[in-house]
Amino acid sequence: MKARTDLVAPAPAAFDLDCETLIIGAGACGLVAALSAKEAGQEVLVIEADALPSGSTALSAGLIPAAGTKVQKAAGITDDPALFARDIQAKAHDENEQALVDLMAGHAGGVIDWLMDRHGLPFSVVTNFDYPGHSQRRMHGLPTRSGAELVNALRAACEAAEIDIICERRATTLFCDASRIKGISVSRPDAGQETIGCQKLILACNGFGGNRDMVQAHMPDIGNGLWFGHDGNQGEAMQWGAELGAALEHLGAYQGHGNVAHPHGILITWAVITQGGIQVNRMGERFWNEAQGYSEAARAVLAQPGGEAFAIFDGRIAEIAAQFEDFKQARSVGAVRSHETLEGLAGDLGLPPQALAATVQAIPQDGTDRFGRRFSGPALQPPFCGVRVTGALFHTQGGLRVNEHAQVLREDGTPFENLFAGGGAACGVSGKGDSGYLSGNGLLSAVVLGRLAGKSSVA
Ligand SMILES: Cc1cc2nc3c(=O)[nH]c(=O)nc-3n(C[C@H](O)[C@H](O)[C@H](O)COP(=O)(O)OP(=O)(O)OC[C@H]3O[C@@H](n4cnc5c(N)ncnc54)[C@H](O)[C@@H]3O)c2cc1C
Repeated sequence: MKARTDLVAPAPAAFDLDCETLIIGAGACGLVAALSAKEAGQEVLVIEADALPSGSTALSAGLIPAAGTKVQKAAGITDDPALFARDIQAKAHDENEQALVDLMAGHAGGVIDWLMDRHGLPFSVVTNFDYPGHSQRRMHGLPTRSGAELVNALRAACEAAEIDIICERRATTLFCDASRIKGISVSRPDAGQETIGCQKLILACNGFGGNRDMVQAHMPDIGNGLWFGHDGNQGEAMQWGAELGAALEHLGAYQGHGNVAHPHGILITWAVITQGGIQVNRMGERFWNEAQGYSEAARAVLAQPGGEAFAIFDGRIAEIAAQFEDFKQARSVGAVRSHETLEGLAGDLGLPPQALAATVQAIPQDGTDRFGRRFSGPALQPPFCGVRVTGALFHTQGGLRVNEHAQVLREDGTPFENLFAGGGAACGVSGKGDSGYLSGNGLLSAVVLGRLAGKSSVA
């Protein structure tokens, strides 16, 4: 990675402002870190580039996987961190560092319980469908199943805890003397600069999905995909890290999604596929085993003629999907088409009717198809539904290597004493490419590493 020389600089003689724990970014990671640090007795300041905290967190469904939580137990779900860790590694082809996987899986349940008990976030478990690769039902979400609700609830908790969040400040330069972080410089909306000194710095400013040059350099196969994350993901955490000699890992890892309504740009939940739906191309033909997952679906869909596909499902599945705000929105703007006959649906979507009918008829009732996908649910029935979709990049999953305290590691494996990272800024547990992403890995890393980074003390 090319390092820019103004990214890291020696500390000035004095700072405009001083604080103890400084957090860059007010998404899920930064806000959880702030709550955690405050609880540990630290004086906290969060700075955020946007006018209001939102980040990729607000764009997400806000679903966080965790094992062994109180709500799981109340719902009669038996789960444990070891099983969760195995699921993460299985999806990522064992490409992750085992210690990091164990850390994430081991702490996630405690973080959900803590957010519920201490901060009143009303999580429940998704119990009416299974996410691919999770052997238990462990996706926890707030009532609307939206990340906007999650980030708003976390921000309200920070406000109740009297944590200062300063918005419209973008961190530009990191000050460092003798490998200890001293503070940062931020740019104001009027283009002026301010300096903030700190004892401890937490990088919660996500990855580099919004930086086209970095995407082309590290993950060219999704370079032509729609960018569906938050534009603030410009990769500063990785650039600062490269300049400081920090270890960067799995920079080619990302979460894609191959089911984004096109041209509406609205996420169509993968539940429409897991519940028995399929994807077809412009010829009305299936082209892959959709059960592999929605992340690798992006590459599969982008490889089809026109870089598009069509999700085909039915009214029963649409009702399950309707628990998600995004799906409701897609329906209300007309992205989801519905017809009593397959011919009607094909005509509406511009697909060859006979080919679509043959494709739907070829779905096994109870068996495995030619792509290796196993079907066991009810056959698709009227009304038939369809959406034109394309492949998108949601967020990057590689980043700074951290230890069990979420401290950033150098290339030689030793930690920077007072530099921490979490969420999209840190290397996650999604392996090296696009097929290692298990549902929820993004927020998993945000909340677990945020919690650990916040409560870690600095000598
Ligand atoms: C459409 C979509 C759906 C998703 N669904 C899910 C899901 O259901 N479950 C799941 O686990 N994951 C999901 N993800 C991924 C998940 O949203 C992210 O992994 C997670 O939100 C990352 O949290 P974060 O706090 O690291 O980053 P963010 O939420 O992006 O927060 C980072 C913040 O840092 C700020 N910032 C960046 N750079 C600077 C800077 N230099 N100075 C100051 N501030 C800065 C940004 O403005 C931003 O507010 C989804 C992502 C997308 C795009």
